[in-house]
Amino acid sequence: MSAPIVWRFKESKQRLVGGRCDSCGRAFYPLTYGCPYCGARSVKEFVLPREGKIVSYSIVYSTTDAARFETPIVLALVDLGVARVIAEITDIDPSEVSEDMKVEAVLRKVREEGESGVIVYALKFRPLLVDGD
Ligand SMILES: [Zn+2]
Repeated sequence: MSAPIVWRFKESKQRLVGGRCDSCGRAFYPLTYGCPYCGARSVKEFVLPREGKIVSYSIVYSTTDAARFETPIVLALVDLGVARVIAEITDIDPSEVSEDMKVEAVLRKVREEGESGVIVYALKFRPLLVDGD
């Protein structure tokens, strides 16, 4: 559900790379080998906007994922304009989350995998900071 993705260390942590379908033109996240909308096989990397707004959300009070320590977790459907993604909302008290709230993507390190140098990040969103913060 939280869509962990693997980035090589040298790659930028700031770009939100999803995919776009050559056939139907829709964008999606995460990048997959087939289009989730029309099933076409021809998809290309596509850099998604990092800012969007919450369409809807739910608060999860328990999880079976032993890697997590903090609950509750806020899972939200975030509209990025060209695509919608489901991700965890972070850096906020769950009681303060609301629909239409503006958020921005952040990639949070989940774990490192030893000598391979692979670092696993999970996409999350946090409230968009207001100018002058
Ligand atoms: Zn498609």
